[in-house]
Amino acid sequence: LNSLFDGLPTTVFETMSGLARAHGAINLGQGFPDGREPADLLASAARALTERGNQYPPSRGLPELRAAAAAFYNRFDGLALTAENLVVTSGATEALAAAFLATISPGDEVVVVEPAYDAYRPLIERAGGAARTVALTPPHWRLTADLLETAVTPRTRALVFNNPLNPVGRAFSREEVEAVAAVCLKHDLIAISDEVWERLVYDDCRHVSLSSVAGMFERTLKIGSAGKLFGLTGWKVGLMIGGGALLEAAAKAHQYLTFTTAPNLQAAVAEGLAWPMERFEVQARSLARSRDRLAAALTAEGFQVLPSEATYFLCLDLAASGLSMTAQAFAERAVAEHGVAGIPVSAFMSGPAADGVLRLCFAKPDAMLDQAAERLGQARRAWA
Ligand code: PMP
Ligand code: GLN
Repeated sequence: LNSLFDGLPTTVFETMSGLARAHGAINLGQGFPDGREPADLLASAARALTERGNQYPPSRGLPELRAAAAAFYNRFDGLALTAENLVVTSGATEALAAAFLATISPGDEVVVVEPAYDAYRPLIERAGGAARTVALTPPHWRLTADLLETAVTPRTRALVFNNPLNPVGRAFSREEVEAVAAVCLKHDLIAISDEVWERLVYDDCRHVSLSSVAGMFERTLKIGSAGKLFGLTGWKVGLMIGGGALLEAAAKAHQYLTFTTAPNLQAAVAEGLAWPMERFEVQARSLARSRDRLAAALTAEGFQVLPSEATYFLCLDLAASGLSMTAQAFAERAVAEHGVAGIPVSAFMSGPAADGVLRLCFAKPDAMLDQAAERLGQARRAWA
């Protein structure tokens, strides 16, 4: 076809999940939780399917969901939203597509912080833009204004920021988020702030929304995902938060991407967003316990585990674990020979900065984590 998408590989998530199925492996690759679906929201979606209409909801979302999402973000991020500041999309992925299509013109450049979610670059390029990357480095993945400045040129139009950061589980500090804001303000950039992991932040770390920093709301499209908030990744209900001409343009892009999203799922998500704060905290604490369990088991197997402050993921430093292979090679062999799937962080990078780092999903039952660690330990001993 000679189109941009024609030349792209199948995503690493799809490929690894396929290999995990083919080999009957434990799948710690693609990020989805196992065994934690909130029964109240499932019941609510089932009820809404039979008791409410199943025809097109308004393009910007069910009024009750937009109102519930505004209240949710006012509670957690200290914003002052009304329902008018919300557009419901078919997953955060659609919100990203709408945001890039609405803000990028041919020739524009977008600053992308790597590791970067795999959808960003193809969507930026499809919109006619070019990605200018800056690479964070293990083990701390720290972000500074100086680093961002190296990628800014007179053509830079926007910056995409993923906080908390998939795949490495960073919850950026207030200082780091303010550094991002300072660069956007200095160079008059639009920010696309992918905050889908915002409520899965652990220990003493706190999520700081870029939209909440002084001067940023007007220039930011913040993106959320019910899939991550409630551990229902197949639902694909996304949230786009912003105001003024920026949100209007993104809402117009959304009209011609999907127009709308399944009404029963929207109704159930509206109910979930009204959960007491405590319930989100309980969810996060349970995930932190799973992280600790997998980290301890892998450490006992001789792996160097990198710190994880957020998301469903922790990473292994393979070189520091005595392995000289790339994470790509390790992942390909581990799924076939030892029955565990993981994701090489190189899939999120355009350069070699993290070639020896492997991502594992810890949002799984204890027994599965224990067995995976044991199998990975066997692989390590075989290949070290
Ligand atoms: N952005 C990031 C950083 C993600 O990790 C994901 C999914 N894991 C998405 C966007 C996509 O979210 P959704 O499934 O709601 O489309
Ligand atoms: N975001 C999920 C992850 O990082 C995967 C999403 C997908 O499969 N495209 O694992």
